Amino acid sequence: MRISFPHMGNLSIALETVFRELGAQVVVPPPVSEATVKTGTGYAPVDCCLPFKIVLGTIAQALDSGADTFIMLGGNGPCRFGYFGHLAAAILRDRGYVFSTVILEGENISREVSILRREFGASRRSALRALWLGWLKLKALDEIERILHQVRPVKGMPGIASAVYRQGVQKIKAARAPEEIRRVTDAVGHCFLNCKPVTGDGIRIGLVGDIYMLLEPYVNYGLEECLESMGITTHRSIYISDWVAQHLWPHKNRRYLNNMLALARPYLSSVVGGHGLDTVANTIHYAQTGYDGVIHILPLTCMPEIVAQSILPKVTTDYDIPVLSLVLDEHSSHTGVLSRLEAFVDILHSRRRLINCQRRGKAKKRSFC
Ligand code: SF4
Repeated sequence: MRISFPHMGNLSIALETVFRELGAQVVVPPPVSEATVKTGTGYAPVDCCLPFKIVLGTIAQALDSGADTFIMLGGNGPCRFGYFGHLAAAILRDRGYVFSTVILEGENISREVSILRREFGASRRSALRALWLGWLKLKALDEIERILHQVRPVKGMPGIASAVYRQGVQKIKAARAPEEIRRVTDAVGHCFLNCKPVTGDGIRIGLVGDIYMLLEPYVNYGLEECLESMGITTHRSIYISDWVAQHLWPHKNRRYLNNMLALARPYLSSVVGGHGLDTVANTIHYAQTGYDGVIHILPLTCMPEIVAQSILPKVTTDYDIPVLSLVLDEHSSHTGVLSRLEAFVDILHSRRRLINCQRRGKAKKRSFC
């Protein structure tokens, strides 16, 4: 069995670790690229969302590279995500590919995991160790990424911060023991000990939207790197380790959902699939915590994010926070996205200058009285 799985940010590093530790033969698909998008859009129905087309392209590339089994998450929620694996398998089998799928969904997850464990001949103990190592890597990767987002907007740091981060990712990928992972995380933190994050007048932007679009830099045209290179501090509303924790531990998920529902009320009072609810709730959170603006990134035809997009103009007015909606599909271009980002950043700078002027004006008036 030569196993493979899709990319979503750094998730594939953790999955590779888990399956290699279990003794499986792993085929890591090539990183998402123009070829992936081209293959996926060539095979997928035209009105499917971009994440589906990319997952489809990734599966085809993994099979072309020698994989014979593909692992996917499934489910029965209100958006298409739950059907990705089944639909992709049907499309590719029609095209002549021969392979097996393991779709992990709902109650069957622990049964499927036990079957896989037995298939690889791994003991329960080594399976637990593999999962633990994968989880630690996922957390460590998010930890160094959070450091990256604090440091990269500092003047003169974008290049250095990205290079240190990339080295950190490679070292975490190669690590074989928890202590090694900890050492790399500490070393990355240590590199930037004397680097003070941007404060005061720096512009801060919150990023909300579909999880795949937020986590996969190729698909969002390196949105965070673009903004941070302009000196903007960004805050992404979701990290993959948070998402995994919410789905592994139901009490965390309940607490998270209640929090989201409380924030989004009265604009949205139910889960609409994907991250639609989170988009509304996090936009309100960013407005309440003094962010200058929010970027909402969504794939064309994404139902949950379209629901959120229709609500955001009201949130913008009520909370006085500018929101840029970036709707992306396979026809979007880097230049188009970059010019919209630059225009949005210009607006936020002018707005900030205006607010500062008004504040100074009020302070002067008070000193005359
Ligand atoms: S949330 Fe949107 S983009 Fe993500 S799978 Fe569902 S429909 Fe596609």
